[in-house]
Amino acid sequence: MATYPHILLAVDFSGEEADQVIGKAVELARLHQARLSLLHVVEYSGAMYPGEIPLPEAFDLDRRLAESARARLEAITVQHALEGSPCLVEVGVPKREIVRVAQERGADLIVLGSHGRHGLQLLLGSTASGVLHLAGCDVLAVRIGSA
Ligand code: AMP
Repeated sequence: MATYPHILLAVDFSGEEADQVIGKAVELARLHQARLSLLHVVEYSGAMYPGEIPLPEAFDLDRRLAESARARLEAITVQHALEGSPCLVEVGVPKREIVRVAQERGADLIVLGSHGRHGLQLLLGSTASGVLHLAGCDVLAVRIGSA
């Protein structure tokens, strides 16, 4: 039986950094003959508005960002011959959504980058450290170099 039958890959579209994380996850999935699900979290744009009730434009923006993210995830599956891999998009706080989706979908391993768009200055980015603290399954933080 495979050690990690279902791997959840968190993709933030941060270019070269995201490519390193995707490459590792694809390699691992092949090695473990695992199912690989791809997830992007659209950071809730309503949070940018000071009012209590989010503006309709915020919902529309989230919807459009989600559609575009799904298309980008699908392009990654085509590029890596991962046809059939679920492409998941959620709206919210990345660390919380990554952990929630992993639990809901029964993922055995979460793969993410040690750093993404939220800063290379830290030893471990905020999403990686949040997921490590909150996840109920194993987590692989792919080391992203600062060079
Ligand atoms: P960061 O906390 O931004 O340094 O990101 C670290 C890693 O968390 C990234 O390399 C991604 O794997 C993952 N991540 C960050 N933001 C998102 C997001 N919005 N959706 C999916 N994964 C994310």
